[in-house]
Formats: sequence, C-alpha cells, structure tokens
Amino acid sequence: MATPENKLAFDGGWEYDPAPESTDHVNIKKRYGLFINGEFVAPEKGKYFDTVNPATEEKICRVAEGTEADIDKAVKAAREAYQTSWGRMKPAERGKYIYRIARIMQERAREFSVIESLDGGKPIRESRDVDIPLAAAHFFYYAGWADKLEYAFPGRKAKSLGVAGQVIPWNFPLLMAAWKIAPAIACGNTVVLKPAETTPLTALKLAEVIADAGLPPGVVNIVTGAGAAGAAVVQHPDVDKVAFTGSTNVGRSIQKALAGTNKKYTLELGGKAANIIFADAAIDQAVEGIVNGIFFNQGHVCCAGSRLLVQESVADEVIAKLKDRMETLIVGDPLDKNTDIGAINSLMQLEKVQSYLKIGKAEGAEMHQSSCRVPKKGYWCRPTIFTGVSQSNRVVQEEIFGPVLAIQTFRREDEAIIKANNTPYGLSGGVWTDKGSKIFKMTQDMRAGVVWANTFNKFDPTSPFGGYKESGVGREGGLHGLDAYVKLGA
Ligand code: NAP
Ligand code: MG
Repeated sequence: MATPENKLAFDGGWEYDPAPESTDHVNIKKRYGLFINGEFVAPEKGKYFDTVNPATEEKICRVAEGTEADIDKAVKAAREAYQTSWGRMKPAERGKYIYRIARIMQERAREFSVIESLDGGKPIRESRDVDIPLAAAHFFYYAGWADKLEYAFPGRKAKSLGVAGQVIPWNFPLLMAAWKIAPAIACGNTVVLKPAETTPLTALKLAEVIADAGLPPGVVNIVTGAGAAGAAVVQHPDVDKVAFTGSTNVGRSIQKALAGTNKKYTLELGGKAANIIFADAAIDQAVEGIVNGIFFNQGHVCCAGSRLLVQESVADEVIAKLKDRMETLIVGDPLDKNTDIGAINSLMQLEKVQSYLKIGKAEGAEMHQSSCRVPKKGYWCRPTIFTGVSQSNRVVQEEIFGPVLAIQTFRREDEAIIKANNTPYGLSGGVWTDKGSKIFKMTQDMRAGVVWANTFNKFDPTSPFGGYKESGVGREGGLHGLDAYVKLGA
C-alpha cells in the first residue's frame, strides 16, 4: 500500500541523489598482523585471510590468522603487563590512558565509521551516529570508574582478576570491543581479544589507537582468526576471566569448557525480542519503533525486535502502516548517507536468512517484502514480514538475525505476556502504550534483561545489558559491568 510520494520513489520517478561518504581519509594497510605486546607481529604459522566488503564482494585487505601458539604469546604478554605495569599502576593513571583512547577514537570517528561500514555492511548513518560514538562513550564512562571502584562497591575491596580473554561477534565490531576492553582495563586487568572473522578491521584500528595512546605493551592484545582462535582464547589455562558475545550454541560450548575451572565468565548470547503494541499506543511512533527495532542494522542485532505482538483491534492499521513505511526504506550502498538498510554481513549469514524465508513460507506463513531494488553484487535482503504465524513456528521461535519480522496478534495483556515469554531467549523486549501502569505491569512480567517503553534499541554505557535464559549469563555495561571484572573482598 504505497502512498503517492513513496510510490514515485520506487517507480523510479523520484529518487534521492547518491550521497556517498568519502573514503579519502581512510587508511587501510594491505595486510595486518596480530597486535601482541604493543606491536603488530606476523602470525606463527604465517597464514592470512581476506576480509571482504559484503556490499561489493571485493576483498579489502588481508588479516592474520592467529592460532594457539599466537594466543599463547598474547596471553603471556598480557600476564607480563598485568604483573609489571598495568596491575600495579595507580588507578587514576590507568584512567588517564583510557580517557586518551576515548578522545583519539572521537578524533578519528569518521575513519572508524567508514571502515565499520566497509567491512561489515552497516549503513554509514548507523556506524557514524550509533556505533562509533557509543564505543567512545564506553571508554569515557569506564575511564571515570578507574579510580572510583571503592564507591562502586562501598565497604568492599575490589581487586582486579588478571588476564581477560574476550571473544566478540560481527554485528557491532567496534562497540563490542569497547564493551569488553573498557571495563576490563579500567578495573586493572589486561586483555586478549579476538574479533569476528568477517569484521576484524575496526578492532585492528583500535589497536593502533591503543598504541598511539601509549598504553604499556601487552595491556591490550588483539588476535584475529577463526573460531578455533576464539576457543584457544577462552580455554587458555592462564586466562582468569572469559567474556563472550555471540551465538547461544558457541556460548553453550564455552560454558561446558569452563565448567570445573575457576575462571569467571559472562556470556552475552542470542535473542528473540517481542515488541508489544497496545491499541492505546501512539501508532505512528510505534511503527517507527518496529522499523527501528528490526530493520536497523539489517536485523543483525541480538536484541532486535524480531517479533511483533500487536493488539488485535489495531493489527490491520499497524500492518498497513508498516508495509507503507517498508516501501520507503532504502536498501543499498552502506556508504551512502541516505541508506537505511545496508548489506547482510556475509554470504553465510545471507544464506541463513534466506533459509528462514523458505522455512517461514513452508510453515504456511504469509510473507511480504518491500518492492525496492537491490544492487546486483553483494549480499542483500529486502525488509520482510511474516503474518499468519503461530507460536510454534520456527520463524517465531528461532533467531534469524536478519531484517525479518514475525507478526502475531493478541487480545489481552496476559496473553501478550505469555506469548512474549514463550521462547528459549530473554534478552530484550518493547512495550508501546500510553498507560504508565501498563508499562510497569508488562516490564515486570516480561522475562527479558532490557525492556524499552515507547522506544526501542536505545543504548547507554551507564545502563546494564544482558539476558535471561538462553540469552546469557551476567551483565555488561554500567556499574554491573564492573562487577564482572573484579573480585570483591572485605
Ligand atoms: P558466533 O558464531 O558465536 O561467533 C562469535 C565469536 O565467537 C566470533 O568471534 C567467532 O569467531 C567466535 N567463535 C566461533 N566458534 C567459537 C568457539 N568454538 N569458541 C570460541 N569462540 C568461537 O556468533 P556470530 O554468528 O558471530 O554472532 C551472532 C550471534 O551473536 C547471534 O546469535 C547474536 O544474538 C549474538 N549476539 C549477542 C549479543 C549480546 O550482547 N547478547 C550481541 C551481539 C551478538 P568467527 O567469527 O571466526 O566464527
Ligand atoms: Mg568484512
């Protein structure tokens, strides 16, 4: 149901002129080594892999493939730094270094944004306005805590743990690195971090920033590589704390591997959030919230609003408005400032999303996609909704991690809560209503770590994040995020 204006847009009568972000200021080397003990070094086995731009399928550069021997070297460097420099430094001094990282990151924000979009496919508007500013904000926030841990845990003594082994996914590459590194080093720990295979570049740029900020060698080590490198990080016997963000399956295997060790761990895993729209909600805002919740970042968001529960009396209106809005979304060049939905992160992820489109149709759901054009090369998925789904359908239960929304209706609050909670996950949720009392009731009864009210996908370094059930263990962000990196004594 297109309005006259947007119909013109996709009929080709009227379109935005291209507004590509410039890439002149971006400096990417042909090949990156591993960042160990304050310098880039060649991997022991001498192997490198390509990192690819998912919007063009072109190779960007080559990146070292770290293996067990490299991880061991990195852990040794981290241990040495912990014992000789970082672990002994005055907390206020550590804070200064972390502030410096934050400031340099801000100064180089344009370069970081472009590289994030090139390597991962997300629209420049998001990397520029969300990922990079939030990553810097995390460093600023935790820099502030470095010399105030006694106020974070009144009456207790907070001691650092030692070496933190950290493994992160591809959906928010720099932001996830910031979530992991900032609280760890603020508490006096040192770090070995493994970025995701498809998006290593901003973490390597962060390594440059860390070197420029003058941190003692070995405080932060960044080791690129495949899943096996991640496994070597979390299983290394000299790692004291494991922080993992990624899929529930890998999280489960990590938890098994850690059983019986005395390593502390946090696991941030998958999600299948319900966005609940009541008839009394401001419908136009709610439709924007749905779009932001699931189409933002191509649905590559663990807390994406991938299920919509809409009250029956307004379901037709909401779905019609949503379809209308979907027609106006621009899918394409991530570097174009007009783009709403960029490229799917990798061919593997595209195939996964496409397999769910088939599953949804085979389950009898009705699929609707926007009619926009997508570029010929690269990995793309039009914004998609499924209606006529039931609670047991796989597209309702399983995490798709793409721009795909499953829509169900409900009549009463308790029915909405039962449906919202009926998944193995419990990471996030949304409630849209003009009644404050309903917000309180729903947010208390929804089994989710974060529930947004009349908004969606809002993040802040001061606020804790993490899930219930199969969405993970522990919290990151805010004061709670410090707890994961210290041991508390009397
Ligand atoms: P993934 O396959 O679990 O990978 C995450 C990271 O773990 C990557 O660096 C990966 O390396 C590495 N890895 C793979 N196998 C490993 C193993 N056996 N041991 C240790 N590390 C291993 O997840 P993904 O597909 O990249 O990311 C998507 C998932 O992350 C989704 O399920 C999403 O919900 C979740 N996620 C959760 C949050 C949260 O905060 N809760 C945030 C973002 C994403 P390679 O890249 O080389 O495979
Ligand atoms: Mg890439």
